[in-house]
Amino acid sequence: MDVRTFWLAGRPATGDTELIVTNPLDGREVGRHSVPTDAQVEEAVAAAAQVAGQAAALPVHVRAEALAHVSRRLAERAEEIARLITAENGKPILWARGEVGRAVATFRFAAEETRRWSGEVQRLDTEPAAAGRLAYVSRVPYGPVLAITPFNFPLNLVAHKVAPAIAVGAPVIVKPAPATPLTSLLLGEILAETDLPAGMFSILPVENERAGALVEDPRLPVVSFTGSAPVGYAIADQVPRKHVTLELGGNAAAVVLADADLDWAATRVALYSNYQAGQSCIAVQRVIVEEPVYDAFVERLLPAVGALVTGDPADEKTQVGPLVSEAAAERVEQWIKEAVESGARVLAGGVREGATITPTVLTDVPADAKVAREEVFGPVMIVQRAASMDEAYAMVNDSAYGLQAGVFTRSLDAAFRANRELEVGGVIIGDVPSYRADQMPYGGVKDSGIGREGLGSAMRDLTYEKVMVITGL
Ligand code: NAD
Repeated sequence: MDVRTFWLAGRPATGDTELIVTNPLDGREVGRHSVPTDAQVEEAVAAAAQVAGQAAALPVHVRAEALAHVSRRLAERAEEIARLITAENGKPILWARGEVGRAVATFRFAAEETRRWSGEVQRLDTEPAAAGRLAYVSRVPYGPVLAITPFNFPLNLVAHKVAPAIAVGAPVIVKPAPATPLTSLLLGEILAETDLPAGMFSILPVENERAGALVEDPRLPVVSFTGSAPVGYAIADQVPRKHVTLELGGNAAAVVLADADLDWAATRVALYSNYQAGQSCIAVQRVIVEEPVYDAFVERLLPAVGALVTGDPADEKTQVGPLVSEAAAERVEQWIKEAVESGARVLAGGVREGATITPTVLTDVPADAKVAREEVFGPVMIVQRAASMDEAYAMVNDSAYGLQAGVFTRSLDAAFRANRELEVGGVIIGDVPSYRADQMPYGGVKDSGIGREGLGSAMRDLTYEKVMVITGL
């Protein structure tokens, strides 16, 4: 089998060891990739630092054309890339195609946003002492970005770091997730076709133990991390003086109020608790239903969950595939067992076969069970009753996390109350918390992280405001 090269300062390179990537469904080898040596990692960092000044000064049309090229080529190679995502991640082909489509849009948005990206002029003569002065405020990249990405969106979450970096003129070094590096290495092929200067990007699939040296390297002033909360906060603690962006986990809630369209709510909750086998930071984990419609909602939810097609992710019809590994599925199975032993009832699913868990609905779950308090990252939802809207919103906030929440309601008042009261980075009215458009601000509060992604927001996060005062006007 071919060994995929990694990307060192925009060029393909090989190290002296290789790693095998396997299919979560059956353990078959999907491919292998070469692993950079310490000397090659050093070379990539030195190249990024060296090109940083030139990158920040790159004409906007060069950045925009490179980004648009990547968007076009992703679209041209969409099917090949989707199949690779399915093979290495276990994501059903249906969702993998969706992910490629989103990455096409992410690069396109970045190409558009970089064209709009300009400074602003502020008058300072608001006070007599500043008469005759004007301020020009621009945004300047902090410098090269270290992008650390998770396994669950091996393409689009890499895109959400690479595209804004190129858009602001910052070199980027990607450290992809060990379970799913091949998709990012394929993206490297497309990035290498552009006219970006050497050193502008590297993709280094190093093992976790060796990623620490990259985190600490002073030549990479920005660490943009997407992954689990413990790893993210450990990185932030490791480098308190760096600019660190953390996109972390959640245990997202969907609230179903008494005035909701119950058929719509049940269909959406069923699907988005189980999409990607629940391995999304905004998958529905907690479903909080107002008392008067609880029974009617559950009556609609269970058939919707039962209708989901579980199976081989390469099959066109499959909606729910395996988790990323058998070990991940065993952990989720253990959490379900723990909840049941402490009084929870299984209304659907709860069965594991290899790395696959059948879509699971639990009720009567004690508040301190792991499936209620922590991030399950599997196809499991817990359904809870709330006596009122107030209680429902308080239950949403009774979580260490705060990424997004969904509220099914037709009431404008309930919507604005949700926006005021829910402690999350995004409130989705009329749909599940799992909704994300790639250009919108995206990120969490509480233990769900620091900073925002989404093209314009990420570009602001990678840069600082710099003011030039012009005197004598
Ligand atoms: P993870 O935290 O295990 O790993 C994330 C990345 O960090 C991987 O590339 C991993 O190799 C790397 N890493 C691990 N230890 C490291 C260390 N000591 N130093 C440097 N890098 C290290 O997360 P995962 O299992 O790949 O992904 C799932 C998690 O990601 C979930 O918690 C999920 O909620 C979260 N996530 C968040 C968002 C978001 O935008 N908020 C999006 C997707 C996933």
